[in-house]
Amino acid sequence: MFCPQCGKEYGQKVNFCCQCGTAMFTPAKSNKKLTLSRRDKKIAGVCGGFAEYMDLDPTLVRLLWVALIFLGGWGLIAYVVAWIVMPAAPEVSESRAAAPATAAQPAPNP
Ligand SMILES: [Zn+2]
Repeated sequence: MFCPQCGKEYGQKVNFCCQCGTAMFTPAKSNKKLTLSRRDKKIAGVCGGFAEYMDLDPTLVRLLWVALIFLGGWGLIAYVVAWIVMPAAPEVSESRAAAPATAAQPAPNP
């Protein structure tokens, strides 16, 4: 690996460049993204997306958001803005990994 800052080469994995002090490791951050939820949407998936992002109950987020709307109306604007700004979640094919249940099994003899 090479230091992106000064170009010093390291034979093994290092966290910091000893020459210039640049962080070399890639922090193990989750690839969580704030996206419109596909799984949990009532209108656009904004609340569901926030809930997924923050590991909260979507219903709680929704309630808070509605409360925000009634407390001055900013929630509505925020919702529309979030709707526009947030990208849609990528199509997930989680259950697709499981093999088709019946196709592989031999047909029972009559
Ligand atoms: Zn360096």
